[in-house]
Amino acid sequence: MSADGAVPRVYADDEIDPGVQCVRCDAVCCRLQVVVMPEDPVPRHFVDSRRPGLNLMAKGEDGWCAALDPVHMRCSIYELRPAVCRRFAMGSAYCRDERDQYSRGIRRPIPLTLR
Ligand code: SF4
Repeated sequence: MSADGAVPRVYADDEIDPGVQCVRCDAVCCRLQVVVMPEDPVPRHFVDSRRPGLNLMAKGEDGWCAALDPVHMRCSIYELRPAVCRRFAMGSAYCRDERDQYSRGIRRPIPLTLR
């Protein structure tokens, strides 16, 4: 139940919650491991290539993607971001789950990849 006493709606896995907005989020999706594909125009200094055959977005010590602007919590390479970031839908089931895990302090090492 929410602060106003209303019972929050439960969204199905294929639904988007319109109440979720990036401007009111700590960019928790930018804590996931993001696979960078060869065709992604990501500036190379943001790419972690230490694992053979696997390019990932580099992360800072805080756990967020190295391309995240930490002051505004926005992507600093928005026009050049990887395809997986473009596909990550605000308010989707995955987004809602990440926000829920983050709010409960749970971290999962699951890479975000293209299907
Ligand atoms: S590239 Fe941009 S959108 Fe993708 S995880 Fe990094 S900061 Fe977030």
